[in-house]
Amino acid sequence: MATTGLARGALVAAGLTLAALLALAGCSAAPAGTTSTGKADLSVAAAFYPLQFVAERVGGTHVAIAALAPPGVEPHDLELSPSAVRAVRDANVVLYLSGFQASVDEAVKTTGVHAIDAGALVSLMPAPNGTAGTLDPHFWLDPTRLATFARAVGEDFSQLDPTHADEYGANAAALVADLAKLDASYAAGLATCKRHTILTSHDAFGYLAARYGLTQVGLSGLDPEAEPSPAKIREARAIAISSGATTVFIEALVDPSVVEAFASDAHLTVATLDPVESLVKSNLVANPSYITAMEQNLFVLRTALACD
Ligand SMILES: [Zn+2]
Repeated sequence: MATTGLARGALVAAGLTLAALLALAGCSAAPAGTTSTGKADLSVAAAFYPLQFVAERVGGTHVAIAALAPPGVEPHDLELSPSAVRAVRDANVVLYLSGFQASVDEAVKTTGVHAIDAGALVSLMPAPNGTAGTLDPHFWLDPTRLATFARAVGEDFSQLDPTHADEYGANAAALVADLAKLDASYAAGLATCKRHTILTSHDAFGYLAARYGLTQVGLSGLDPEAEPSPAKIREARAIAISSGATTVFIEALVDPSVVEAFASDAHLTVATLDPVESLVKSNLVANPSYITAMEQNLFVLRTALACD
């Protein structure tokens, strides 16, 4: 009996070590193309994190989710791996945003898979300072727009798997309520601020700025990897001075050197504002999610803008 106990203890220890290693390697999310249990009622492929978050919350225990964008990678213009293309092909439903990731658009088109295009559900705004005809993809930074998407996902899952329609409906309603709470805390938290201009690394915060009465000045435009032009840098510097801005925002998944150089030149503080394009692991939060990332963003904004 003692031997069995020891052997079991060793197995448990080995399991814990493996789990710890996987967590350290950032592999806790199911890699693209795999399902977590193999006996889920629905298999869902999600093109990037906020859509994956909605699938998790609405699907609960009944869905297996393939994350097409690897965790910790900025998902703009994601190139799908062969296993991610298979995950698209094998999914009951794909959640994506047309026009955001050409290789996902292509995979959806060529496989003919059932898909929910967020761009067809939420109203997208024109790109800030943008090229005519370009739409701003970052709708999820307005919680009310993400709620519109969540409702549609609830209805779609219910149609695909009617046995669990009540649960999908209840889960979607709970998520919509959480997003309404988040929206209310932003509206209250940003109602009385000394400053209203946010200088950001890329133009990710147009929807957030529009909803809560802020003005966004992005250095790199819509593409997080683009080099800001000297003209853009001069313009941003002039706006920083005229608006009394104290802070310029960087993001975790993009090289901060350009923004840091700008900040040091313009005598601004650097802080991190998360565009929530991917789930960034944090030591401060036990179970990070879209909601906790947005709560942290609100805290950072309130500090930078001197809100009461
Ligand atoms: Zn972006």
